[in-house]
Amino acid sequence: MTAKALRPRSFIALIAVLLLAACAAPSRDTAPTGRVTTGVSHQGAAPLSPADMSLRAQGFIYAASQVEPVAERICRERAPQRNCDFQIVIDDQSDIGPNAYQTLDRSGRPIVAITLPLLFMVANSDEIAFVLAHEAAHHIEGHLERRSQSVAQLGEILGSMVYSKEFELQADALGTLIAAEAGFDPLRGSALFFRIPDPAGRILSSHPANAERLDVIRRTYANYMARRS
Ligand SMILES: [Zn+2]
Repeated sequence: MTAKALRPRSFIALIAVLLLAACAAPSRDTAPTGRVTTGVSHQGAAPLSPADMSLRAQGFIYAASQVEPVAERICRERAPQRNCDFQIVIDDQSDIGPNAYQTLDRSGRPIVAITLPLLFMVANSDEIAFVLAHEAAHHIEGHLERRSQSVAQLGEILGSMVYSKEFELQADALGTLIAAEAGFDPLRGSALFFRIPDPAGRILSSHPANAERLDVIRRTYANYMARRS
């Protein structure tokens, strides 16, 4: 079993973080020039209301609570040699814009993180679940360790975002299975990936073409549904 990232206390802290971020949201007019990855970057939209922030927090908690046990089970089945005790968190510290990543803590425990700006962009819990499942899949497939040295030198967080195209498609396929098995619609969920902006022009630049990704997700999901029926 795992210590959930979602104890009541963290839930309250999470809501507080989300509400604070909403209050602190700079308008586009006052944001420093050339700096678009502030804590809040929902593309010029009006600041999210407390009710909307609360919905997003609940969506995250729901998606994380469903995805985590499935990711852990599939991890133990496919990669029993790995630490499969996932911790799923919201990253409200990194200035990396709308993003998600997978890393390890000091004890080697796998962490899956979604940043606040990305959480502000999601349309539903299928999208949150798909992001979390995709990142968990990177860990199960051992992608962090299999990166090139040059990429590793960029640092853990950035390094985990510049996987090869091959790794991304693998994570999409396994992420599709995890999300589906956790009760979400991976096709609906993957819509988020195709809305993510890439302000730095580098973080997501290694990602495959959207059509190729969608094709992998569609085929994997179709096979999964066929096996179930
Ligand atoms: Zn990825």
